[in-house]
Amino acid sequence: MHKGRAFAEVIIPSPLKEPLTYQIPPELDLTPGMRVVVPVGRRRVTGVVAELVAASRIERVKPIIEAPDGQPVMDEALLRLGQWIAKYYLSPIGEVLAAMMPAHLRGESRRVVSASEGEFAVDGLERRILDELGRSKTAIGLKSLAKKFPRGFYPALDALARIGAVEIRERTRRQRKKPVSDAENVAPPNALSLTAEQQTAYEAIEAGVVAAGFRPFLLYGVTGSGKTEVYLRAMERARSAGKRSLILVPEISLTPQLLDRLQARFPGKVGVIHSALTAGERWEEWWRIVRGEVDVVVGARSAIFAPLPELGLIVVDEEHDSSYKQDEGLRYNARDVAVVRAKLVGCPVVLGSATPAVESYENCRAGRYALLELKKRVERRSLPAVETLDLREVWPTSSDKPRLLSPILAQALRDNLARGRQSLVFLNRRGFANFLQCRLCGFVLRCAHCSVTLTFHKSERIVLCHHCGWRQAAPEACPHCGHPAFLPVGFGTEQLEHELAELLPDARIARMDRDTTVKRGSQEKLIRQWQRGEIDVLVGTQMITKGHDVYGVTLVGAVLADLSLNLPDFRAGERTFQLLSQVAGRAGRGEEPGRVIIQSYDPQHYALRHVPAHDYPAFFAEELEFRRALNYPPFSRLVHLRLEGAQAPAVEKQAKLLGDWLRAQGSRSAGDSQIEVLGPAPAPIMKLRGRFRWQILLKGKKGPALLALAAAAQARVPRTSRWRLHIDVDPYSML
Ligand SMILES: [Zn+2]
Ligand SMILES: [Zn+2]
Repeated sequence: MHKGRAFAEVIIPSPLKEPLTYQIPPELDLTPGMRVVVPVGRRRVTGVVAELVAASRIERVKPIIEAPDGQPVMDEALLRLGQWIAKYYLSPIGEVLAAMMPAHLRGESRRVVSASEGEFAVDGLERRILDELGRSKTAIGLKSLAKKFPRGFYPALDALARIGAVEIRERTRRQRKKPVSDAENVAPPNALSLTAEQQTAYEAIEAGVVAAGFRPFLLYGVTGSGKTEVYLRAMERARSAGKRSLILVPEISLTPQLLDRLQARFPGKVGVIHSALTAGERWEEWWRIVRGEVDVVVGARSAIFAPLPELGLIVVDEEHDSSYKQDEGLRYNARDVAVVRAKLVGCPVVLGSATPAVESYENCRAGRYALLELKKRVERRSLPAVETLDLREVWPTSSDKPRLLSPILAQALRDNLARGRQSLVFLNRRGFANFLQCRLCGFVLRCAHCSVTLTFHKSERIVLCHHCGWRQAAPEACPHCGHPAFLPVGFGTEQLEHELAELLPDARIARMDRDTTVKRGSQEKLIRQWQRGEIDVLVGTQMITKGHDVYGVTLVGAVLADLSLNLPDFRAGERTFQLLSQVAGRAGRGEEPGRVIIQSYDPQHYALRHVPAHDYPAFFAEELEFRRALNYPPFSRLVHLRLEGAQAPAVEKQAKLLGDWLRAQGSRSAGDSQIEVLGPAPAPIMKLRGRFRWQILLKGKKGPALLALAAAAQARVPRTSRWRLHIDVDPYSML
């Protein structure tokens, strides 16, 4: 029995703020974390038991219908993590749960029923169910079977299952075969010995794994310094201590090598979670993990919710990467959630990066995280030689038609190709041209649904909105005045690819950006070709800056570093330093040293100045002063409020009312709990997907006071058909 616990608090995937109470039927043996099917109104809904309680606060409690699994799908620490997320990110617990679990776990569509061998003496409904199953050669989906017997189906099925007449199980499918990796041209696992620096870092983490308590580490190691080997050793150590590990990476399709290495070290024991999995694949992976069939889980952002039992180590690789922050729906940061999960579980967490987030490095200075450093590359390889080119000097007069590639970069590319080496050319903007503009009247094509220009894509001859995906054929003449000179302005990776093809007619050139990698698996395919040396020049957006080791790359060009610098975002400098350092780090990972050429109109900006010396601490010092002067994180905390609605005047009016109210509340606070209210103002992208957007930024030193005010705003502006208030705690993107 339930030790006197007759009721269960059940979390339903819904916008409800609180769990619902249900009565536990005497035959059910429940524990928190188990899935249950419960009645909600006239529907049957699958939820998760949060807690067992002795008494109900309400009368006339309905009973739980069934518990389909017989075991929890998440442990207590994961449940508590969900509750922490709900509170911290101001989201209903039901929506948090829905984001944490694969869609199939929220329903029951994957369960199948089949008749067992033998004769069973049953009658009535049970007989009819058994006959129905007997007529089918294969197992029948639980849902479709239930539809045939509208009354009393589940108790009857349960009775059949108890006498062994039917078998109920999860529908499983065969695992997709993983492509075999190509060993050549890929940096071999440095399995023999660690460098002294690696050894020191490993020992610190190992002590944490053995002590099995919460310990946060920042592993700051320059590109090519062998951070991955340190992770792998620590994960092996966790396994030998009977524990499991979780490793997060920004985008799993960009790191097939890490997957190879994990599979080599933990054969058959690697669970993989990422957004490209189908719902069914996610569901199968979840069950393998819950049952303890894997020793390690690797995945992108949402893998932080992987239900690993006996979790003993969490690693967040490239912890600075903004893809850990989800900007839609549940706006959480998986890196920060990882630290909280480690705390709840009681295990070490390792955040690794060559360019740590300012907040993380500051946490080390403040003594909250232990700093582990890898200052040298493995095998005594040198860091690449980085030079910055001032484009104002390259194209001094307006009569010179500026091209994307300066003569110096062009020559370097020619030389590198002649020597049979690979080059990487980075430009952080997709498409051919920024937009089309009339040379007579100046008309520019904009998206009808978003307040942004449409980007011109030459190969398809279309204009495309990079925010909502709306597209149309590119007009031949100005739609406004009819003038034929309706021409491209600006540039993107597609134009860069054309320019490279002209410059290097014999080179094998490939482009990697969101336009060329729409198809599932196409990114991985490109990376594999790149690793095998089948591509001479790889052109791309920030996708190409991420961690893949290729021996043959000896030249990296950054075409226009200023692009990310000029974004309206206080992290613009940090992002620029990170992007350039990461892309530079792709060079010279083999025997031969690498060369990096960065083109910019502002090479003296501090975000660029420290890239050549690979001097993160020097960059950090300047960045920190900038943050301090403007009271940005880590000196303050931010909450971003955005009101959206289809009617511009209604949204504006509501935003102003909310702003006035917030200011009145904020002015009552004083000292450290003081809260600054910035705005309301139209969002930088004022109209997106047909909805008008206004924003307010809350800034404060004390997190709890800030969250309390944001929660009060949330309660004050309930969701209506006319507007909706989105709240983003610790925001990354504020466009
Ligand atoms: Zn649009
Ligand atoms: Zn015109």
